[in-house]
Amino acid sequence: MIPILGTVPEIRAAVAVWKKERMSIGLVPTMGYLHEGHQSLMQRAAGENDRVVVSIFVNPLQFGPHEDLERYPRDMERDVLCCEGAGVHLIFHPRSDIMYPHEFHTTITVNGLTEGLCGKSRPAHFAGVCTVVCKLFNIIAPDKAYFGRKDAQQLAVIRRMTQDLNIPTEIVACPIVREQDGLAKSSRNIYLRPEERKAALALSRSLRLAEQAVADGERDSAILRTVIKTELTTEPLIAIDYIEIVHPVSMRPLRNLAGPALIALAACIGKTRLIDNVAVTA
Ligand code: AMP
Repeated sequence: MIPILGTVPEIRAAVAVWKKERMSIGLVPTMGYLHEGHQSLMQRAAGENDRVVVSIFVNPLQFGPHEDLERYPRDMERDVLCCEGAGVHLIFHPRSDIMYPHEFHTTITVNGLTEGLCGKSRPAHFAGVCTVVCKLFNIIAPDKAYFGRKDAQQLAVIRRMTQDLNIPTEIVACPIVREQDGLAKSSRNIYLRPEERKAALALSRSLRLAEQAVADGERDSAILRTVIKTELTTEPLIAIDYIEIVHPVSMRPLRNLAGPALIALAACIGKTRLIDNVAVTA
């Protein structure tokens, strides 16, 4: 059984033993309700480090006032089994008041690249993410930390934060894991009713069409966005939040593609907000 630790002194003590033995440590930060996407991060971490820590923490700071914090899916028993099959050595599962005690006044804001895409409709989201990830880095001091490309803006923001704050943890990006029919795996997929689950396929389908258009020589972002929008609007259950084509590091919108680009979208299907993206090179 993998040990589950809930306090900062406990996890620091466990990590100190490993550090003394000069073991390398990989961290996989998650909000739990784990799936194969998370597992791919854990397996990669297990392959590249002597010890792997998974944090499971539904971080209240990254949820907006009308978002799904309360109903966010949780299943600790299943999560432990999932970690066991993926070479994890320790689970850090703190309570909210451990991470954010009564006196807590600090947030970390990465400017610029948090303003567009998800930052527009979720204004405090990335400050919440950066604050919790920075705390996890300070508590665990991992050599490497693993993040999925599914949350491409989050990855860019975390990379910026670690560089700007001289955090000596290497950020490792892992590919998007999808269901067989193309839907990007997400803890939130559980919310989808059968007809919504079917409609959600238009997300990855529209991105594949854009990817193909780029492969066929299309370089105009406006045209690519129209390709995606046309496909998404075939599904009346989908409400588009954004369709953006940006530089993968700066997250700045690109009018024309010349080099690497990220094609990203967010949409609501019923009450469920889903994101997806594809990286292309023109
Ligand atoms: P979450 O629990 O949703 O906060 O996700 C924790 C980590 O798993 C983040 O780095 C995500 O980008 C990553 N992740 C979530 N879903 C996927 C997926 N389908 N493929 C790859 N990585 C993922």
